Amino acid sequence: MKAPPYASSCILTRMSNHWGFDVRDMDTKIRPQDDFFHYTNGGWIKKNPIPASESRWGTFNKLRFDVEKQLRVIMNELLATKRVKAGSPEQIIRDFFRSGMGMDRRNELDIRPLEAYRDDIAAIRNRKDFDRVLAQLSRIGVEVPWSTGLDQDDKNSEQYVLRVSQDGLGLPDRDYYLNDDAESVRVRTAYVLFVEKLYRLIGSSAKDSRNQAEAHMKLESALAKVSMKKEDRRDADKIYHKMTIAELQKLTPTFDWSVYLKRIGGGKLKTLIVNQPDFVKAAGKMLDQVPLETWKRYLEWHLVNDYGGALSERFIRARFSFYGTVLTGTKQMRPLWRRVLGLVNNDVGELLGKIYVQKHFPPQAKKKMQQLVHDLLEAYEARIKALDWMTPATKKKALLKLKALNQKIGYPDKWKSYTGLVIRPDDYIGNIIRSTEYEHKRIMRRLFGKVDRAEWFMSPQTVNAYFSPNLNDIVFPAAILQPPFFSLDADDAVNYGTIGAVIGHEITHGFDDSGAKFDAKGNLKSWWTAEDKKQFEKRTEVLRKQFGEYEVADGVKVNGKLTLGENIADLGGAAIALDAYRLRAAKDAKVDIDGFSPTQRFFLGFAVFECESSRPEVQKTQVLTDPHSPGIFRINGPASNLPDFYEAFGVKKGDKLYRDPKNRAKIW
Ligand SMILES: [Zn+2]
Repeated sequence: MKAPPYASSCILTRMSNHWGFDVRDMDTKIRPQDDFFHYTNGGWIKKNPIPASESRWGTFNKLRFDVEKQLRVIMNELLATKRVKAGSPEQIIRDFFRSGMGMDRRNELDIRPLEAYRDDIAAIRNRKDFDRVLAQLSRIGVEVPWSTGLDQDDKNSEQYVLRVSQDGLGLPDRDYYLNDDAESVRVRTAYVLFVEKLYRLIGSSAKDSRNQAEAHMKLESALAKVSMKKEDRRDADKIYHKMTIAELQKLTPTFDWSVYLKRIGGGKLKTLIVNQPDFVKAAGKMLDQVPLETWKRYLEWHLVNDYGGALSERFIRARFSFYGTVLTGTKQMRPLWRRVLGLVNNDVGELLGKIYVQKHFPPQAKKKMQQLVHDLLEAYEARIKALDWMTPATKKKALLKLKALNQKIGYPDKWKSYTGLVIRPDDYIGNIIRSTEYEHKRIMRRLFGKVDRAEWFMSPQTVNAYFSPNLNDIVFPAAILQPPFFSLDADDAVNYGTIGAVIGHEITHGFDDSGAKFDAKGNLKSWWTAEDKKQFEKRTEVLRKQFGEYEVADGVKVNGKLTLGENIADLGGAAIALDAYRLRAAKDAKVDIDGFSPTQRFFLGFAVFECESSRPEVQKTQVLTDPHSPGIFRINGPASNLPDFYEAFGVKKGDKLYRDPKNRAKIW
């Protein structure tokens, strides 16, 4: 490779980021052949230390930060508007935001907005009362010990179905309760203290709080023990257990499902899907065995914990010291406006999103994205046709699935309505409860209707993208279609390396170890010959092993099985985006910019996407809970497997990223 002309005077004009990549963000003391991630991003990381309010910091977080600032401007304009119509989108977002920002009022109310629910819990006299209150809490999003959710039926994607899933833990994963490694013990010990603290804050004496925390921990640990592992929860076959209500009833003889379902709006259901029957059965038994008083305290604790971030300052501080500091190493809380904005985005996101896209998503961006997606699909098709390990029969099915793939870019064609939702400027908790119930009712109404293929699972102001296996669609919200991931003015090599690789990533989710189980219609139905499936698994196993060897803080290893789907998507995404770029740039692909060849620029763009650094605490939490690998491996991992990378940067035997050709992964 050619060295970038850092010392040259003409760099001054180039520093303006004219091709979509800023060479000042590199660290050229690091050899790209040894650590491409830091070679590309090292300069940026040095110049941008993690802010005290964040647990990780990178281009992704930075863009999220910038989008929040854009939203804040919109919000300020709304706050300055004198007259808005009651019930209008403007009134809903403005007053939701205003209610959250009114910290004095929130402190004055303290825990009172939850009083009615706490009274109901306190009034429970028997199991019948208990089951009723459980349903009532589920409607406002407090879902313990199991949760329910709307989904398309994996085996009949034309229909919605209600899924019952394990839940009820205050820690992010079952392993924290069960493992005895240093990190699990550290987190668990701090958690018990936090549980105790929260009991204390809701009025228990010091002694009672200690006893309650102990009983609470015992209960959650028992639930953890019967919880399915996260690696298995990714497996669509393992969580598909369709049953009649009578069959479900048999799992928990003393819990009245007909009453529960009726109260959450699913009284007419004949069947549903239970993700973890073993868990439901065991939890049902625990309902009989654990004293009702313990369950009541547990319900109250989860109610307060779930709403704690929106209560008064003393609750916010207690939660932050555990969920912020202990779990992610964050030193300082985010400013209030960012926290409140997060909730508005979460609860009535599309109302704000509609205004956002009018301001920040030009029609040309949508057009350019359509072109990129088109090129990616074309490259994918060629790639599948050329695969040397797949038989023609399976290839035909794969191509069918690729052709059926739907794309959604920027924002939904049909916006969600919030007609009738009451939002008050001085009632933050009330607003959250009402909007959660509103959404819950919407979901339960839809359960019996036709599948909505136009639906979005992310608001347009979300910096992210996703693939839906049942709808077989890829979705790119407006907010991710901005620099440094996408720019109308950037060099194509960079755009294809950044957003192109994201598109490729999402398409590949349809063909990763989990997505490949779904056919063109979004049904869980194998379209593979036995031999092809074996070949596929052999190839993904290479990647599982590779990632299982990567280490984060304190020598904790990445979970190769948990992250497999994302790693397949990263590798496939990069490979196919490069093909797509070459299709597009066939004519001028030889031109260098700043001394970088087109392929080099593609990879520089690719590495920018995952530019980040993170605190050791969050690295360890991430490895345990997040299906995505840490940023450094999401770049160095795929690069070390791609022959084009070796060629572009002259990677040789002895370099740290070098892998023997027979140990490289090639799937799609
Ligand atoms: Zn992904």
